[in-house]
Amino acid sequence: MENQKVRVRFAPSPTGPLHIGGVRTALYNYLFAKKHGGDFILRIEDTDSQRFVAGAEEYIIDAFNWLGIQFDEGVDYTTNKATIRQSERKPIYKQYVDQLLTEGLAYIAFDTPAELDAKRAEIANFQYDASIRSLMRNSLTLPKETVNTLISEGNQYVVRIKIEPGHDIIVNDLIRGEVKINSSILDDKVLFKSADQLPTYHMANIVDDHLMEISHVIRGEEWLPSAPLHVLLYRYLGWESTMPKFAHLPLLLKPDGNGKLSKRDGDRLGFPVFPLQWTEKDGNISTGYREAGYLPDAVVNFLALLGWNSGTEQEIFSMQELIEIFSLDRCSKSGAKFDFEKGKWFNHKYIQQKSNEEIAALFAPILIENGVTVSTEKTIQIVGMVKERVNFVKELWAQSSFFFVAPTTYEEKTVQKRWKAETPAQLIELIDVLNEISDVTPHATEEIVKAWIAEKEYHLGNIMNAFRLAIVGESKGPHMFDITAIIGKEETIARLKYAIETIK
Ligand code: GLU
Repeated sequence: MENQKVRVRFAPSPTGPLHIGGVRTALYNYLFAKKHGGDFILRIEDTDSQRFVAGAEEYIIDAFNWLGIQFDEGVDYTTNKATIRQSERKPIYKQYVDQLLTEGLAYIAFDTPAELDAKRAEIANFQYDASIRSLMRNSLTLPKETVNTLISEGNQYVVRIKIEPGHDIIVNDLIRGEVKINSSILDDKVLFKSADQLPTYHMANIVDDHLMEISHVIRGEEWLPSAPLHVLLYRYLGWESTMPKFAHLPLLLKPDGNGKLSKRDGDRLGFPVFPLQWTEKDGNISTGYREAGYLPDAVVNFLALLGWNSGTEQEIFSMQELIEIFSLDRCSKSGAKFDFEKGKWFNHKYIQQKSNEEIAALFAPILIENGVTVSTEKTIQIVGMVKERVNFVKELWAQSSFFFVAPTTYEEKTVQKRWKAETPAQLIELIDVLNEISDVTPHATEEIVKAWIAEKEYHLGNIMNAFRLAIVGESKGPHMFDITAIIGKEETIARLKYAIETIK
């Protein structure tokens, strides 16, 4: 076991879009696998046909493709479909259910939903366990012939695990240490349903983890209550010696207040809880990190630090760095507050870190949407001038639209403050100065304009502020002579003339 190859799996149930907490679980599995030279496997746990949602499987695969998290097994990347679906492995599970029945470790129960409801109403805190099973219709209380007759007559049944009360079950968790619970609190969980001939989550999950030689089960804290049952199932099936090691990750918590992060928190506070956009059956659309303008590596970096820390001050990590330093023993036991402002901060950092070329390529479609045609070269220059002001690529438009579209109105408060009585006459002079310039590079233009201001003993600030107002329409933007170099001399002069005519 000690020298066993690391093999971990991400085992979503395709019941809808993947929650961001699930993405973090998958990421930690991936980092752990890659760190140890192991395999990362996708397994679709679709044995609950009631909760199956069409499109969820493709969504999950698309999401990881976007994030740059690759599975080693379980995905056919030519079709982008999963290759391991539990619903297609029925006979495999049946064999182990039969084994448990033969060995008396599980039993058949015929209780109908109505009968179960009646008992629930009759007995306080009803739980189908050792104290109750003798009162129910199952293969422990009915004669063998009756059981056979009921089955051959086509009555539906379930198979339940038989849990003996009064002993401790120990789960050794790599993050939480030894978790001990008493078997008396467990119920005889359903492992198999005759109706669809399918195992339930617990049975299929254990059988597959065993058959796929999974070495570590890394999953969310919400599965910790199931772990004792899983340990018991390994024992019952005779697989205790190859049981995977468990690690239950801390919950993602609401950004404000207490409790588990939910989709409602995202709607309420305005951040996505899904990696990609998802459209409900009723047409309702939930936005995703991708559509909200997050860069995939920023999302990975953000999620990596929600429940794990490197032990240093460093916050920006590439996937490769994360793989190198990730370890389960630096995962915390307590929940991680979902600080979505920090998510924006990461996106900002990644935009700065990326080349202007890369960001310009992402900005190009937004320019087209706004009806702008501009060379790639100019886009790259402009991106370089304004990207430090944005958290998202889409915000680049608001920060740079004046490069492409001349202002037709002027911000009122800036006009009040910056447009003085002498301004029009000064700007007319400035037009003459600019007209004389042949070298329109920022540096040359700046030298000439500043020399004129000095010679005339004008107030540098007053001129430059009015100049900016005329060119940009307000008081924002990068260095003035960088702007004029991009828009060109003619456009600069045209804007000055328009402002002189328009601003009163
Ligand atoms: N199918 C479970 C889920 O949806 C898997 C839990 C586990 O990893 O064991 O998360």
